[in-house]
Amino acid sequence: MTFLLWEKLLLSTLIATSGALFVRGLTPKLRFIMAGRSDRQRTDQIPARLWRVVKEVLLQWRVIKGRPVVGTLHAMVFFGFLAFAFETTDHFLEAYDISFLGALFGGAEHAFKLFVAAVAVLVIIGIVGLAYRRFVMVSISPDPKSYTSGVVALMIFLLMVTYLYGLDAAPAWEKPNWWFHALLILAFPPLILRSKHFHILMGPINVFFRNAHLGDYLPLDLDVENMPEDEEITLGLESMDDVPWKMRMDFLTCVECKRCTDQCPAAICGQELNPREFILAGRAMMGREGAVIGNIISPTALGQCTTCGACENICPTGIEHLQVLTGAKRAQALATGQDMAAGEFLQSIERHGNPFDKPRSKRKQLIDELGIPAYKKGETEYLLWMGCNWAYNDDARSSLEAMTQVLDTSGASWGVLDEESCSGHHSRRQGEEMQFQTLANENIERFEAQGVKKIVAPCPHCLHTFRREYPTVKEDFSVETIHHSEFMLEHIRNGSIKLGSAGLEGKKVTYHDPCYLGRYEGVYDDPRDVIAQTGIDIAELPRRRDKSFCCGGGSAGFVREQDVGTRVDQERKREIIDSGAQVVVTGCPECKMMLDAAVEETMDLAQLVAQATQIPEAR
Ligand code: SF4
Ligand code: SF4
Repeated sequence: MTFLLWEKLLLSTLIATSGALFVRGLTPKLRFIMAGRSDRQRTDQIPARLWRVVKEVLLQWRVIKGRPVVGTLHAMVFFGFLAFAFETTDHFLEAYDISFLGALFGGAEHAFKLFVAAVAVLVIIGIVGLAYRRFVMVSISPDPKSYTSGVVALMIFLLMVTYLYGLDAAPAWEKPNWWFHALLILAFPPLILRSKHFHILMGPINVFFRNAHLGDYLPLDLDVENMPEDEEITLGLESMDDVPWKMRMDFLTCVECKRCTDQCPAAICGQELNPREFILAGRAMMGREGAVIGNIISPTALGQCTTCGACENICPTGIEHLQVLTGAKRAQALATGQDMAAGEFLQSIERHGNPFDKPRSKRKQLIDELGIPAYKKGETEYLLWMGCNWAYNDDARSSLEAMTQVLDTSGASWGVLDEESCSGHHSRRQGEEMQFQTLANENIERFEAQGVKKIVAPCPHCLHTFRREYPTVKEDFSVETIHHSEFMLEHIRNGSIKLGSAGLEGKKVTYHDPCYLGRYEGVYDDPRDVIAQTGIDIAELPRRRDKSFCCGGGSAGFVREQDVGTRVDQERKREIIDSGAQVVVTGCPECKMMLDAAVEETMDLAQLVAQATQIPEAR
């Protein structure tokens, strides 16, 4: 096609207008992001960050994994977007008598155009499928529909149709079709700024800057001497001024897909907490001042979060919900002191170093009664971390006893500390950073005094805290912490623990994935492999592995008052009962506590293993 001078001038004017409108729409958003403070180093580990972008954005791994059908349709549109980057450049340069594709592909230009045509067909299938789900299948997607997202879907459809038509257009229609295609493209930049399609631009950037691990909290510097005199001190997310730039970016990047809310145990139970809504409430605060609690999230909703991590884990655009939740909790605990959901819990820890409000002497008494060996500096290999639940919860005694038997059977040298303080896990999740740091320092001192090198922690909450959080409290903290499922599997594999049947033949046995073992630590297979070693074929629950449903015990949920319609533990129990399981095995003392009495028997993994080493005829 040849273009007259006036056509070239008109096109240049339209390109400049589209660009100017884009910049005008982008400026306030950039200002909003740049007004945020920096909360941490987010430009380290560049190769790992780039690989995450390749995996999650270019290969669409998280999008497809979260919702396989919808994710595949989305991937079809996304891959088309990439292929059309070349085609679109060529389309505009053609008006200026430059053949971009010719220069790039030479003789293979036609073949490339045919390839793009095939991609265009896939994009049409993808966008029609997505629009059908969104606008026709209203029972699956019942939310209010955004007008602009419908317009964008229609425009993508028309772009593909005009491209395909342009390949073989009748001469009279060739140029009008070219112009229509060009106008559709030029309308895109200003439009995406006004719709959820802003994620096309922001998604890859947000994924790049995201933390490597779920709920990666940095300690607040609470040393008065280090606090700047001339600057305001930030103790959590009190007001919009405290919201860091990455969180502001999160608010603007949300694609409103609702995957987070669909995974949130509190939202599923009909409670007030709704992760998508608090992210969108953050977006609505653009250009406004005000408190975070009340404007972005209510105290009631905040108190309902179990920190299960399901929302952040599934989000395809790298949004860090947990930073909002913990930031707001820190403001509650450290700045305002109001509306805290677990005040008594924290007071018990303050008084006795454990949330069960029991004197420390109770733990010593239990150690004497069960004849548990003391950890001996320079002699003992493994420290068994009892944790508050096994030390102070009477119902957990059988789990502890079972673990002592397993440790004895393994032949490893092991022992417990004379004294433990709560790991501080729940204090931190309640925003009580000062209490967390005090507890962490107490425990670190004990570990160092005893020269501890290896810890076996049956509680995934403590495990996560030792592995990920103690090294941020004390830089040279390097004690290796493993979960008891990892310990047991290693010793089963090296032959020091020999298993037979656990005596559960004929019973349907299932496994509940604890959030902090699975989603946070990625330990899904070890507990399953241990169970399989006893000859049990696990009857899996519908919600399992990284989509496991929280037991409701997280973030002090196991002792916190929950004045709600449906409790999270009730919903999980219902699922276990509906599965027809008679025995549920888990690898977390809190999960066991929450799920006790759901079915015939709730067992800790250690109990199962102890049972399987005690039935001689089975070996
Ligand atoms: S962490 Fe869990 S409970 Fe909290 S908002 Fe996210 S999904 Fe809901
Ligand atoms: S926060 Fe993430 S998962 Fe939730 S609606 Fe937004 S993009 Fe989707």
